[in-house]
Amino acid sequence: MIPRPSNRSKDSYKKRILEKRNEILEGLNKELSERIGKAAELKASLGSDTGDMSTLERDSNLSISFARRYWSMLRQIDQALTRVDEGSYGICEECGEKIDKKRLDILPFTLYCTRCQSRMEQESSRASRLN
Ligand SMILES: [Zn+2]
Repeated sequence: MIPRPSNRSKDSYKKRILEKRNEILEGLNKELSERIGKAAELKASLGSDTGDMSTLERDSNLSISFARRYWSMLRQIDQALTRVDEGSYGICEECGEKIDKKRLDILPFTLYCTRCQSRMEQESSRASRLN
């Protein structure tokens, strides 16, 4: 079977997305080990019967938001890979316009064009201010 040119560009999209995924996972590993190191220090400095739970609590809240951030990036990456297979990669999920190539170079897994992304960020920051 002769590979069609579109398969070749599919592969190069996937390769780029997977490279980004590795970068993100490396960052995650690094941050995790730093956090684990800090948590161990904190535990050691607290001793066994001091009851300073607020520091621990604050720290675990931070960990949750940090895990969420990575989780949402990894989810976008999976979606982007599916979209490469479906042939809809590089099309904005919100408005259906082509996503700028420069944007895809920086964020190969993005699902939205710059305009939709910034609109959604504004909306979500407005929503979080209301909360
Ligand atoms: Zn859009």
